[in-house]
Amino acid sequence: MSRYQPFSEPPKKHLGQHFLHDRGIIDKIVRAVDPKPGDLLVEIGPGQGAITFPLLQRHGELTVVEFDRDLIAPLTEAAQAHGALTIIHRDVLKVDFTEVASGSMLRLVGNLPYNLSSPILFHVLEHASVVRDMVFMLQKEVVDRMAAAPGSKVYGRLSVMLQAYCSVTPLFDVPPGAFHPPPKVDSAVVRLVPHASSTIDIADHATFAHVVRDAFGQRRKTLRNALSKVCDSAAIEAAGVRPDARAEQIRVEDFVRLANLLHARGGAQS
Ligand code: SAM
Repeated sequence: MSRYQPFSEPPKKHLGQHFLHDRGIIDKIVRAVDPKPGDLLVEIGPGQGAITFPLLQRHGELTVVEFDRDLIAPLTEAAQAHGALTIIHRDVLKVDFTEVASGSMLRLVGNLPYNLSSPILFHVLEHASVVRDMVFMLQKEVVDRMAAAPGSKVYGRLSVMLQAYCSVTPLFDVPPGAFHPPPKVDSAVVRLVPHASSTIDIADHATFAHVVRDAFGQRRKTLRNALSKVCDSAAIEAAGVRPDARAEQIRVEDFVRLANLLHARGGAQS
């Protein structure tokens, strides 16, 4: 594998640019992705190509989504030595991944810009039916929240919203020194695998999101109080959930059952 060569462009803070330079970490990410012939690989935020070129060398083809116009020409030029790189020069939040998949399943990878990590996760989940898996680098604190179980201090809206749609498996931690410039926080790599649509059947995504948002909006309150604008205690009980419990104690499947019941009764009122 040839060495990663940084471009001359200095990192841009407003685009969350922290470029990986630790070969050991880059190799671990490539091994975690473990591309197989025929896989449709898409990298979000290739930057200066730290993960891009090793993946390209191994797989022969790769699509990347990059917003920074100054990186497009150097990426195009440097990729020629490695394989077939397709660059989508666009804000990832505006990319229609269902169109990119065009009938296939995508495998996503990315050292995500941390200032946009939640919006990117939610945007990608809108296209979960065309995503086979994702290997993402995020702030460790975000990965901890994504993977948290009920009862944990960091179990919250992000945990429920992510786990309702995917399995969440933290893979390994990454220290600030692996990046240039080093971020102020620790990072972690996580694997997300969207559930088969039959595993957790959310009747209406908007109702589910609404219930979860309200439940955790006032996480110290009982569900009866936190959800008072959405439903009454009887509805919570009918879904098999204790109205005097707090959101942080409620399992993902219980939120789904409650949201489905409210949807069947005509949706969550607000
Ligand atoms: N993958 C490279 C690495 O590991 O060194 C760069 C990772 S850097 C943390 C995040 C990358 O996402 C940068 O290349 C940045 O320009 C890009 N980026 C930031 N906002 C973006 C957006 N809205 N859409 C697409 N790419 C974006």
